[in-house]
Amino acid sequence: MSHTIAQRFTLGDLTITALILGEICDTVADRFESGPLTGAGAPSRLPVICLHVAGPGLSVLIDACDPRQYPVTGTEPVGICTALRGAGCPPEGVTHVILTHGHHDHFCGVWDTDTDQANFPNARHILSARDWGDATLTAAAQHADGPAADPRPLEQLLGLGLLDLDTCTPALPPALTLIDAPGETDGHRVVRLCSQGQVFFFLADLFHLPAEIEMPDLCPVWADAAALNTSRRLLLDAILKSDARFMCSHMSEVFTAEMFSSSRSLVAPRSLK
Ligand SMILES: [Zn+2]
Repeated sequence: MSHTIAQRFTLGDLTITALILGEICDTVADRFESGPLTGAGAPSRLPVICLHVAGPGLSVLIDACDPRQYPVTGTEPVGICTALRGAGCPPEGVTHVILTHGHHDHFCGVWDTDTDQANFPNARHILSARDWGDATLTAAAQHADGPAADPRPLEQLLGLGLLDLDTCTPALPPALTLIDAPGETDGHRVVRLCSQGQVFFFLADLFHLPAEIEMPDLCPVWADAAALNTSRRLLLDAILKSDARFMCSHMSEVFTAEMFSSSRSLVAPRSLK
């Protein structure tokens, strides 16, 4: 199952494994109002990256996509648990599943529709209450998914008492911090990891494409542009200040703070090309 591993690296005493657990086949240009993404240069496929974080007494999954629902072109679709086992990250050992926001490709893997059971029965699943309405996801959170919207995996978790919203979020391991970063959805959050002085951010859908990092005003049609812009600038400033590495949900590269302008201005990040 090694094809599912996009990256594996250490951060202090943590081992971070970035897994490709799906692929979105889309015309990306259609998801932006206008500008440089239109035309033949726009990618038509985006990976769905989920992160496993392992350390002393620690096994945390950040986002959970089921590859059977978003199969990667040219590969045999396998379930998320099979993919995790193949990568040496046994699902039964996962204690926390952090869901960055309420979009289907980020949470559909929490529930096995074949066996009608939770895939991570020993884990607390954590989602912002700002994406949660009356016993289900808010309509705003489901807006971007269109026909693919299906909140049932989360509703099943809630019924079993495995879903924690803000009011009852259990303490996270100290290496992890959740940071509100609204824009993609109201409840969109990113994850800061810190170990032995090294810092890494999983930015989820703060950016979908390198072009958005180069041009932070580029905004998908469903997002709250003003909120997204503020979140981007705050997070990029935090990345620069801590000389952090970072990844996003739909790009398989590990980026470094060095790619931004040394002037620490976020107005003109250096080209990624
Ligand atoms: Zn996404």
